[in-house]
Amino acid sequence: MEIAPRRRLAPSTRILIGLLIGAAAGTAMNLAWAPEDPKAPAETWAPAYRNAVWFADKVAHPAGQVFLRMLFMTVVPLVFCSLVLGVAGLGGKGRLGWIGVKVVAWFLGSTLLAVLLGLFLVNAVRPGDRMDPERAKEVRAMFDKEAAQKEAQAKAGSGFDVDTYVNIIPRNIVRAASDDRETLGVIFFAILIGVAAARRPPETTRVFLEFLQTFYDLTVAVLGFAMKLAPYGVAGLIFAVTLKLGFDVMRALGAYLGVAIFGLLFHQFVVLGAAVALLVRLHPVRFFGRIRGLMATAFSTSSSNATLPTTIRTATDEFGVSPRLAGFVMPLGATMNMNGTALFEGVTVLFLAQVADVRLGLAAQAVVLLLSVLTAIGAAGVPGGSLPLLAVVLDRVGVEPGYLALILGVDRIVDMTRTVPNVCSDLIGCLWVARTEGEPIRS
Ligand code: ASP
Repeated sequence: MEIAPRRRLAPSTRILIGLLIGAAAGTAMNLAWAPEDPKAPAETWAPAYRNAVWFADKVAHPAGQVFLRMLFMTVVPLVFCSLVLGVAGLGGKGRLGWIGVKVVAWFLGSTLLAVLLGLFLVNAVRPGDRMDPERAKEVRAMFDKEAAQKEAQAKAGSGFDVDTYVNIIPRNIVRAASDDRETLGVIFFAILIGVAAARRPPETTRVFLEFLQTFYDLTVAVLGFAMKLAPYGVAGLIFAVTLKLGFDVMRALGAYLGVAIFGLLFHQFVVLGAAVALLVRLHPVRFFGRIRGLMATAFSTSSSNATLPTTIRTATDEFGVSPRLAGFVMPLGATMNMNGTALFEGVTVLFLAQVADVRLGLAAQAVVLLLSVLTAIGAAGVPGGSLPLLAVVLDRVGVEPGYLALILGVDRIVDMTRTVPNVCSDLIGCLWVARTEGEPIRS
């Protein structure tokens, strides 16, 4: 008798199932049992909700953190090895410079488009005018403490000026490697090492590059272990988030959420979809179907950095991009290219200005546009990485940063949504460069 082989689901499908189960369970329990005020003291909660929160805090969230930490753990070696190998491998005859120009042009162009879209929508809908001022005060009061924290973080991070760019050059590479906000420092160092390696006779650098290649391969193998946990980690993360989402607060901020999420989805599927068709020459619908695992990972981890290994793997394994090119473009993209974040910043600054009754004319909006692009480059690719910088932008355009409190309760859902275009834009940029460099793309 023949035994039918056991069919294993594809990893991306397993992640997606984890995402759906976690989200469905968390949302259902939230709707059934959660108190109206998300800040209500625990003693007043329904016992079933208390048990569910216990499960979220002690089981689901830790399971999610184990997965996330396994991913984060690999970011520094991955960024360093892949950039040095990428730059050293691409380095010959000015090719790297030309690729760099194209990559930066895509980053800036797509980010600019995203902010323009956000600003257009928020001006057209004016969600801030639809917010009941009394309700705004209540919601703000709920999250005042968190907002003060973000402001303090923004101040501690020396604000945002010319120093922000000088600081890209790390004073101490080990310290830069240990701080999420200084990934650009690691990138800068790795690029220079790669350039230096490319200028030397190959026999003098061969051993070093082989060592890095092995280190890179081993890190990827470790990642393979982490990805086995992905469906469970993703389910845990999303369960913990949806269980505690303030649906009541979400309703109060409905117009804002509507604009932000519609804008992000429009950018993701229409604007980036058009880029896939025009620049990469792939069918957008099939393209998004092929990267559903990548989108699910970005959505559930809410972090470009944590998604970086999956982004690189999608480019090489799914689309056949050379590891050199993917290894060069993706770490840059994860840190510098954040379409969704820039769109979100534009929408949020204008929304909060509308609520605060601060009129921002065309000139002020141009400043918002510029700052959104610049701060999106500087934001760390971690959950909520852009919030301290958002406090800085608010301050710059004369809106009291304390207004940030208004959106903090719903930010996680926007954060998950904006991380998807953040990551997809990196992949699309990489595929476009690959195509223009004559690399065959698997269709
Ligand atoms: N979570 C975003 C990312 O990692 C950053 C942010 O907008 O907060 O891409």
